[in-house]
Amino acid sequence: MFDLLNYDFMQRAIIAAFLVGLAAPLVGIFLVQRRLALIGDGMGHVALAGVAVGVVTGTQPVWTALILTIASAVLVELVRARGRTSGDVALAVMFYGGIAIGVVLLSRAADGQSGNLETYLFGAITTTSPTDIWTFAALTLVIVVVTWVLRPRLFAVAGDEEYARATGMRVLALNITLAVLTAVTVVISMRIVGLLLISALMIVPNASAQLLTRSFSAALRTAVVIGVACSVGGVFVSYHADTPSGATIVVLTVLAFTLAAALGGLWTRWSNARHETPDEHPHEHGGDCGHPAVRHGDHVDYLHDGERHAAHADHWDRHPTDRTTTPRG
Ligand SMILES: [Zn+2]
Ligand SMILES: [Zn+2]
Ligand SMILES: [Zn+2]
Repeated sequence: MFDLLNYDFMQRAIIAAFLVGLAAPLVGIFLVQRRLALIGDGMGHVALAGVAVGVVTGTQPVWTALILTIASAVLVELVRARGRTSGDVALAVMFYGGIAIGVVLLSRAADGQSGNLETYLFGAITTTSPTDIWTFAALTLVIVVVTWVLRPRLFAVAGDEEYARATGMRVLALNITLAVLTAVTVVISMRIVGLLLISALMIVPNASAQLLTRSFSAALRTAVVIGVACSVGGVFVSYHADTPSGATIVVLTVLAFTLAAALGGLWTRWSNARHETPDEHPHEHGGDCGHPAVRHGDHVDYLHDGERHAAHADHWDRHPTDRTTTPRG
């Protein structure tokens, strides 16, 4: 079972899988909130063009992919800021342009080099080099720190962009930050999960976690646990079953989602009668608690961690961030 740990390349694969399983759901939760589930896919396609540039010019594909993907991420956010339709079109251009440019460039590469196209598209655990591991570890650290520090702001913007703008948040800067984090996640994931499937690891663990949990912080923790378990577990399974790592990992996340859907249904039925309260609430809200206050029908909600909390008897209720929904509690 654990004999694979005797191989250096498998040790590297497991470290890389851990890093990817950690970073992808962490960034993905904000994409799910913003209904931008496909943006990671678009960036995966652009990253392929970046890999092709690296292969053709004989430089490091990881770095050329990173530069091109970040550049396109910033560009799409700037276009998106000017209106929904053009953002949609920008995403489509990323999809087609990325894959077409990638394939054209790789066809010009010296014989034998374009053969590893598939390893980038679908991931190949054996291809992670020691240099890759250090690069991925550093980039994962950046992702974890930035998402943690900006978590309340990113979530406020994801939940209600208009409202976040009204409270004076720098929405465009936060959107660009999220886009860059997504781009970095796509690039560190390409060796293990592959560029065509990376979006699944950002989205599916979060979809599962939302079926099982009621608050943002619990959903985030659960999604990261599912992501790491499926990612590292997928490397084990793919080694023993001799299957491609990326597809194996994604199959595991889909199984986890199916399980969560089944358990989530039971859980909801059991807890439906219970009052909906946030699972963590270490402070009282008030005029100087630092959380934006927003009118919600006949009462005031306080916004933090992307949720709205309102006073109710001796506890705080969680109210939907969608302001068109009728308040509960
Ligand atoms: Zn507060
Ligand atoms: Zn409310
Ligand atoms: Zn609160």
